[in-house]
Amino acid sequence: MIGIFGGTFDPVHYGHLRPVDEVRRALHLREVHIVPCKWPPHRDAPIATTTQRLRMLTLALSEFPALQLDERELGMDGPSYTVNTLTSFRHELGDVPLCLIMGADAFGGLETWHQWQQLPELAHLVVMARPGSDPGHDAASLPEWAQPRISDGVDELRTRPAGRILFQSVTPVSISATEVRAAIAAGEDVANRVPPPVWDYIREEHIYGFSESTPGSAEVTHADEMKDLAITALEDAKGRDIHTMDVRGLTDITDYMLVVSGTSDRHVRSVADKLVDAMKQHGYRPLGAEGEAGAEWILVDFGDIVVHLMLPKTRELYDLEKLWGEDMRASIEAQRENSHE
Ligand code: ATP
Repeated sequence: MIGIFGGTFDPVHYGHLRPVDEVRRALHLREVHIVPCKWPPHRDAPIATTTQRLRMLTLALSEFPALQLDERELGMDGPSYTVNTLTSFRHELGDVPLCLIMGADAFGGLETWHQWQQLPELAHLVVMARPGSDPGHDAASLPEWAQPRISDGVDELRTRPAGRILFQSVTPVSISATEVRAAIAAGEDVANRVPPPVWDYIREEHIYGFSESTPGSAEVTHADEMKDLAITALEDAKGRDIHTMDVRGLTDITDYMLVVSGTSDRHVRSVADKLVDAMKQHGYRPLGAEGEAGAEWILVDFGDIVVHLMLPKTRELYDLEKLWGEDMRASIEAQRENSHE
């Protein structure tokens, strides 16, 4: 039995990949063809180019090797119609049972598809629940044409080439391409929503309004570079117990706070001097420094990173790690909870 899963994949995301791979395993499908459409008949043209959508799929499928890219729709004239795609599979495969896999939202709109009545004649329809759009699959709530086709199990699908409708439960993944595109345009990181190589590619190609200046992109890289340089300089100066705190989202003051100890006033001052020299060599001048005289606590502010150099007893007393760590996060959590009530 063979699975076919079509879509725009603009871009491909885990809401496509995980449920389909789960269906593949549950139905013991020999092959699953992932079929990107040339241009969707019911919708606006995709944002990414065909080449980009294909590249993203290829990159994504390296994490899902049991799913295979099938480019047949891209070679067809005019818009992609599923009826033509299924006919092409049918010609190729004879009577092998075919399963057209789709999300519940797609199944809900099936009657608007070109020659939709032909579809269950050409393949079984395997419908995956999709968060936010489950049409309900008790026979009574389905259209009349669908009711007698409802199947109660995978085994039945194997006994014939087409004609049954199976509602296959899958672990829900609430991701949509629309929401991924919007998140990218707003400068959010979508690393958990698309496979990592796809996210790298989107950034390289600046697709979906990704721009270096959107928050969470270039600025982070810049801050990351400064942080890494500072850590190296602190290590070279024999700073003790170097601790880095990522405070993005906790404060607008800076991206990273580094805390480091020195063994004596003199050592703290010398670590601070060496840090400033090393950063200057890379073009990063401090915006300000505080506390140099006493040298119990020197703060050097480079903008995207702030470094606190302290004697161990001062460090213990002020406990910046706790203040900017669990205390700050707990207070933000509490504020969030209050605003939801
Ligand atoms: P868009 O948000 O742009 O409409 P999409 O995320 O729905 O895109 P498509 O390429 O249009 O992605 O969808 C292809 C197929 O994947 C459809 O059958 C759709 O129902 C299904 N699908 C997409 N996302 C999910 C999901 N999170 N869970 C289950 N099925 C999904």
